[in-house]
Amino acid sequence: MTRIGRFIRTHRLVITPLILFFLLTVGIFFFNLVIVDYIDGFRVMVKGREIGLIKNRGDVAARLAILKRRIETEKSIEIVFDGDLISFEPTEATLDRFTSMARLDEALRRNVTYKCKVWALRIANADSVYLRTDGEIDELIRRLKAAFIPRARSDERIENLQVKIREAYSAEKGLAYFEDIRDVDEAFRYVLWGAQKIEKYTIKPGDTFYLISQKYRLAFSDLLAANPDLDPQHLKAGDVVSLTVPKPLFNVEVSYRHVYEQIIFPPVVVNMDRNMLRTQLKVDEPGAQGRKRVYADTVRVNEREQSVNVVKEEILKNPLVRILRIGTQRTPDDILVAGAFLPAGVGVISDYFWTPRPGGRHHLGIDVAIPEGTAVHAYRGGTVTFAGWSPAGYGSLVTIEDENGTVYYYGHNSKLKVTVGQTVAAGEIISLSGNTGVSTGPHVHFEVHVDNKVTDPLKFLKGK
Ligand SMILES: [Zn+2]
Repeated sequence: MTRIGRFIRTHRLVITPLILFFLLTVGIFFFNLVIVDYIDGFRVMVKGREIGLIKNRGDVAARLAILKRRIETEKSIEIVFDGDLISFEPTEATLDRFTSMARLDEALRRNVTYKCKVWALRIANADSVYLRTDGEIDELIRRLKAAFIPRARSDERIENLQVKIREAYSAEKGLAYFEDIRDVDEAFRYVLWGAQKIEKYTIKPGDTFYLISQKYRLAFSDLLAANPDLDPQHLKAGDVVSLTVPKPLFNVEVSYRHVYEQIIFPPVVVNMDRNMLRTQLKVDEPGAQGRKRVYADTVRVNEREQSVNVVKEEILKNPLVRILRIGTQRTPDDILVAGAFLPAGVGVISDYFWTPRPGGRHHLGIDVAIPEGTAVHAYRGGTVTFAGWSPAGYGSLVTIEDENGTVYYYGHNSKLKVTVGQTVAAGEIISLSGNTGVSTGPHVHFEVHVDNKVTDPLKFLKGK
C-alpha cells in the first residue's frame, strides 16, 4: 500500500486531471441518457397506420400542400385529399427516431388517397360517368346525338328530324378517383355499349353463331343483338363478330320523315302461244319501270330501326305492263323421247342426261314429265332383268335387256305389270308411271346402258 500511495503522490499532477476527465465523461453520458434524449413529438397516422414521427404537426400540412400541387401538376386536375385521412398521436422519442422531411414526403405520397374535382354525368338507373369539364359533357352529348343522325343520299330527304336521349340525365360537379375519369372517346363508347372495350372474334371455317355463343357462354339472342349487321345464315371465314353484348346507358332515339324514291316494277302478263315451242319466249311489250316517292315516318334507337310507317306514296311515273308470250308446243326432242316409250305421247323432257347432282354425281338418264298412272311401254323387246323396288332411288323400277345386251331402265313407276325373267315385246305395257323413289314430281326416268355403260338416251334414240 505504501508503494501505491507513494506512486499516487509522486504522479499527482497527471492522475488528478485523468480522474476529473473520467468523472466528467460519465456525468455527461448519464445526463444525456436521463434528461436530454427524450423529445416531445407526434406519430403521423394515415388510416391508423404510422408513417412517420415529427416534431411539429404543422409540417404535415405544409408537406401535403406541396404534394397536392405536385399531383395537380402531374395529373392536370384539381384534387382533394380524402377526409379523416391523417391523425396525430403525441409521443416522445430520441432525436434519431424522427423522420426527415424527404422521407415524410415519400411516405405521404405512398399512403394518402385523393379524389379529383370532376364533372359527373348522372344517368337514371346507371353509374355516373366522370369527365374533367362540363364542356366535355356537352361535347359527349353533342357527339352522341350527331352519331345517329341519318345521312340522306342525294335522291332522298330527311324531314322533321328529332334527336333525343331517352334516359334522364344531369351534369353536376363531383369528386372521382383519377382512374374513373374518362375522356370523351371512352365515355362515348361506354354510354353506348356499357363497356370500355369491345371484344371481337374472327370467324373461322366451320364456325356458326350457335357454336360461338356456346364457346363464349353468350345467349344466342345476345350474340345476335351484338351483331345486328351480320346474317347468321351466311357467315364467311374472316367475318368479325362482336362478343360484347351492348348494355347501353344511353339510348339515342332519332325520329324523322324519310322521303325517298322507289322503283315500281312493271306488272307482267304472260300469254300462251300454241304456235311456238315450249322452250321459246317472246317479249311482245318490254314494259317499263315506274317511280314513286315514299314518305315514311321512321324511328331508330341506337342505329336500330324500331318502326317504319309509310304515310304517303306519290306516283312519279306509272309503270308500263310487260307482255310475254310463251310457246306450248312440244319440241321435237319431247316428241322423240316421249314417243319412244309413251305412245300416249304427252310427256315433255323435264331433265336431260348428265345434269349435275349433289355430291359430284350426274343424272344418268332423261326425265319425262307425265301425269301419274300413264301407261309405260317397252321401247325394245327383251327379258325383264329387274322388276321391283330399287334401293338406288329409282323407286319402283323395271329394267329390260334386249338381244344386243342393251339395258333400258324405266323408273319411278306407281305400278309394275311385268316380273323378272319374263319376255316382253316392243310396245308392250310394262308399268304405270308414278312419282316413287327420289323424285320431285310425276315423271318417267329413262336410262340406257350400252355395253354396260350409261349413254345419252336422246343421242341413242336419234341413232347417234
Ligand atoms: Zn331421272
